Amino acid sequence: MSRFWSPALHDLTPYTPGEQPRQRLVKLNTNENPYAPAPGVRDLLDHFDTQQLRLYPDPESTALRQTLAEVYQVPVECIFVGNGSDEVLALAFAAFFRQPEPLLMPSLSYSFYPVYCNLYGINAERIPLAEDWSVDLDAFDRPNGGIAIANPNAPTGHAHKRDAIANLLARQKDKVVLVDEAYVDFGAESCLPLIPEHDNLLIVSTFSKSRSLAGLRIGFAIGSRELIEGLERIKNAFNSYPIDRLAEQVAIVSLKDQEHFEKTRQAIIDTRTWSVEALRQRHFDVLPSNANFVLARPTTRPAVEVFNALREQGIVVRYFNTPELSDWLRISIGTDDEMQQLINALDGILPGEGQHP
Ligand SMILES: *Cc1c(COP(=O)(O)O)cnc(C)c1O
Repeated sequence: MSRFWSPALHDLTPYTPGEQPRQRLVKLNTNENPYAPAPGVRDLLDHFDTQQLRLYPDPESTALRQTLAEVYQVPVECIFVGNGSDEVLALAFAAFFRQPEPLLMPSLSYSFYPVYCNLYGINAERIPLAEDWSVDLDAFDRPNGGIAIANPNAPTGHAHKRDAIANLLARQKDKVVLVDEAYVDFGAESCLPLIPEHDNLLIVSTFSKSRSLAGLRIGFAIGSRELIEGLERIKNAFNSYPIDRLAEQVAIVSLKDQEHFEKTRQAIIDTRTWSVEALRQRHFDVLPSNANFVLARPTTRPAVEVFNALREQGIVVRYFNTPELSDWLRISIGTDDEMQQLINALDGILPGEGQHP
């Protein structure tokens, strides 16, 4: 509390980011990619002409949007870019969801959504998950001022098939349905093919996870011209230059290296497969995941104790101290070596373990 703050600031509940430790740790807590960005990024940085930084960047990020348009095969007018998808989400909430009727979102999803609602005074209705922890799409058939879901969902990793979301879009023709695809490249179906037929669909995505560029802050949205124009109006009322010159060029180089992208995302999927098996052998309940993390519940020791014991050994996973999640750990998928270190550490931490090969 401070006498200098605007009244609205007192009631804000800001998002709590995962810890960014200073020491070298096995860092499996914020779903970063364990692999380096595309090798061309290194070359670009080695030869970057710093004179360029004297000048403001292109406010429209045209070159980046054109490259995205080529890669995703949509018109450039259907693409919006921002300073991380968090910014794109914030602008989208401001542009579309300040409505008389409530925004619908899953009761358990990306924890930034309720923070934006709080910031903008959006009334949100949280729709309970289905019994298997999937997002219950049928439960969204109720009066609303818009819908926001993540597919795959966080922190569960569950993903719906494209057809299921197409049905939701058809039932909600006059409402914006925001689909956050931050994790889609790790084995889920993108809603991208639905864009031409559904002018109410806004896909939000990021370079932070599958392109290994969390440190650069680049996110984007794909949607109908109408929706993209709405985002541009808000953006130009807030920050004209969200993408700096360096970020734009790095993003382009990264997008053009399809081979590196395929190789690294497949490596993460393969590592996830054996890691899930190894956790299950150690009596964890593990939700099936289409993302670069798993939500796992240790059944032989309380999650918080496992979290603390791992932390002592320099392995950081994510523990959410909330009623829904306090029995669970969210574990990002690292390299094979990092996951092996995790498994070895668990064998020392869990009762009666250590007999595994
Ligand atoms: C990581 C994440 C984001 C944010 O990504 P940035 O582009 O780094 O801001 C958005 N949505 C979900 C569901 C995420 O997990």
